[in-house]
Amino acid sequence: MPSRYVASLSADQRQSLETKLLGIQSGKCFICRLVIDPQLHHGELELDHIIPLALRGNDAENNLALTHRSCNRDKGASDLRVARCLAELKSLQQAATERGDRGANLGDVLGQYGGGRAALSLRLNDDTVEYAFSHIGNNEPQSSRLYSDQLSGARYFYCLAPLAYIHHDDSINPRSIGSNIRGLIEEFLYGRPQLHVGLGWWSAEGSQGKLKLFDGQHKAAAQILLDVKEIPVRVFVEPDVNVLRQANTNAGSNLRQVAFDQAVMRHLGSSLYRDRAEQYQRAYTLLEDDYSFSELDLVQHFRGERRQMERYIVDAQRDAIARNGDNRLLEFVEWSGKGNDRPMAYSTVESCFFQLLCTKALSTPIDQGSERELERRQMTELMSLFADVFYIGHWDHDIGGRQLENRIRKGDKIPDGHIRAWRISREEVAVNVMRWVRLVIENHFAVAMRRVDRDRLLLEEFPQSLWGNIQTFLNNLSALPCWINPELSATVFGPKQNLDYWHSVFNVGNSPGGLPVIASGLDLHRMIVPA
Ligand SMILES: [Zn+2]
Repeated sequence: MPSRYVASLSADQRQSLETKLLGIQSGKCFICRLVIDPQLHHGELELDHIIPLALRGNDAENNLALTHRSCNRDKGASDLRVARCLAELKSLQQAATERGDRGANLGDVLGQYGGGRAALSLRLNDDTVEYAFSHIGNNEPQSSRLYSDQLSGARYFYCLAPLAYIHHDDSINPRSIGSNIRGLIEEFLYGRPQLHVGLGWWSAEGSQGKLKLFDGQHKAAAQILLDVKEIPVRVFVEPDVNVLRQANTNAGSNLRQVAFDQAVMRHLGSSLYRDRAEQYQRAYTLLEDDYSFSELDLVQHFRGERRQMERYIVDAQRDAIARNGDNRLLEFVEWSGKGNDRPMAYSTVESCFFQLLCTKALSTPIDQGSERELERRQMTELMSLFADVFYIGHWDHDIGGRQLENRIRKGDKIPDGHIRAWRISREEVAVNVMRWVRLVIENHFAVAMRRVDRDRLLLEEFPQSLWGNIQTFLNNLSALPCWINPELSATVFGPKQNLDYWHSVFNVGNSPGGLPVIASGLDLHRMIVPA
């Protein structure tokens, strides 16, 4: 909301207000905290309310801040204090992406605020634990009661941990920070307390150890961004970390206490996979680098949990593909839940691409993992090819996908390539596209008289000619007019459709209700001939 107070100022008064605020803000933009140069940025600065008038902020000097115009226009929240936290996180996210990580996590936030520096010494007594936060100059011995969980026997205490002593555990919690953190920042900023305390663990390494936080990352990060210096933690003392990891996994899957995103479940699956492989090595007194056993050996050894074991194996494969830096699709994937910034939801990656992975345990030794390696490589290539045709150079992150079909119906000018990228990414469309890609692959092997198990398609090396066919198929598909036709927004792309809808469109050209969407059904042979 524009400030009536600012509007009432003369040019000179406004100038002196800007100078005064710049002094208060140490010469920096309130949002991005980078330098404001009154000369170079002249005409590109804005005065805005820190606390919005809608939240009963005052329209007065003490509630105004000076920002870069672009920062104020791009801000993700009307409250400048929230906008500032989000800008800080965004720069951490960018740094993480440049390093090749999927996103920033609590470790990055801690690093920015002087956290994660110190180890902790504990003296364990029968029912108390003593410690001191000397690293931050507090030598006063502190004592907490040591509790013991009645059923699991796990021992734990509660403490208010200074940031310097908190470390992020990215092994149990490999998630990065999602955009939902904004809600938490507002919650804490507006005076609502943290309800659930974060969970950590501590084990002695020599006489010291690190306090590692494995749950409550978002709550901790939100408060740290708001300049909180101590976080309450329930600390498990010398726990069996695999038991914690299992409990955390179960909480996110079977028990669903926490809304884990699927990609993380995959990673946890793969940690459990590694854990089972280590157990197998111990059972057969193999050295820790001895992987001369196969997936099938593991499945047979852990007969009681055969299904889980098979899942861990495929999870590890999905995880490796989803972390492969060569995979050009990844930057177009929305990792947590459903967002609008990136076109493809992770759940669609699973239903569309990952259903081509072999779900059976293989009998070749893991250390000769050339089959899984080949599968990984080919899946990465397939996903990258999809990105090349539909996303790279077409998807515009600035336009995004929020209300896109509505905007098209209202007559907004959206580039064709962007609309196509959005529409092709709908789960019901993408899954049917991949069914056809599967047909292209199967057809190729059939013509070449090669018998290939349908469940093991990607374990066969694709010849260059097959890659060419897939590329041509995707190119021809992208040339269909339906992807960019604004008229279809109300009928075909507005409403949520199911898989059968697009099955019908691709097969006969019409929707199940008879609405023509493409001129005719797809012809496999014509689709693999370059246009
Ligand atoms: Zn700025």
